[in-house]
Amino acid sequence: MSEVPTVGRALAGCGLVPLDAQVLLAHVLGRDRAWLAAHATDVLPREAADAFFGLAKRRRDGEPIAYLTGIREFWGLPLTVSPAVLIPRPETEALVELALARLPPDRELAILDLGTGSGAIAIAFAHERPRARVVATDRSAEALAIARDNAQRLELANVEFLRSDWYDGVPATRFDLIAANPPYVDPEDAHLAAGDVRFEPRASLVPSGDGLAALRTIVGGACAHLVPGGTLVVEHGYDQAAAVRALFAQAGFVEIAAARDLAGLLRVAAGRAPV
Ligand code: GLN
Repeated sequence: MSEVPTVGRALAGCGLVPLDAQVLLAHVLGRDRAWLAAHATDVLPREAADAFFGLAKRRRDGEPIAYLTGIREFWGLPLTVSPAVLIPRPETEALVELALARLPPDRELAILDLGTGSGAIAIAFAHERPRARVVATDRSAEALAIARDNAQRLELANVEFLRSDWYDGVPATRFDLIAANPPYVDPEDAHLAAGDVRFEPRASLVPSGDGLAALRTIVGGACAHLVPGGTLVVEHGYDQAAAVRALFAQAGFVEIAAARDLAGLLRVAAGRAPV
């Protein structure tokens, strides 16, 4: 850019849609988007301009905004993210909502979050149920480091993190709630080749086996780790609702319920372990 780069010119000339441009420039400057609007004619310091145009180029090449800023909000809580973890999504908030509706607010509870990634689900529960003790697992040590860091920064002392491949390393105690947003995308799914998911860890998206492989392990093993009457809640793909419901029924779950994402598709299933 030959002219002196001002805030407004940088936003207009970076080749991104306005929202992405604003989020990245606000991040570089340590300001919010309202500040940018009020300072459109401010001259950008050279270093800030270089940093911003560097990030804008990476965004144009497809990298997700959350990996460029290192932050994504989930359940109203700011979480650190990196390419070692899935970027928390709004549909997963539907999982948290459905689970909370089945969790008494006022007593001690034991909660297990399998494959916690950034810690999003575990941290939302720990935040909403201060008397709960949350155990969150992941197979990836890198993910656990990020999740731990998130819990610490949010000063949540009631969540602990554990390296485990689904139930393999989980303590033999029984839980009131088990939650999971496991990998469930079929390896042949065309949407893996487009958009933000290309940059996310494949192990967080695609199970080893078909799209239902991880869900089968999680649903099949859940009753052995739940108290009688305990709840299992899982996220699944847009075309897996019937299959996941069948897995719940097969495993003996009752009161099977479902929740939709913002597009109106069934994406979350919950059930109660037999008493
Ligand atoms: N919701 C993600 C997607 O559609 C997948 C997340 C997952 O597999 N748990 O790409």
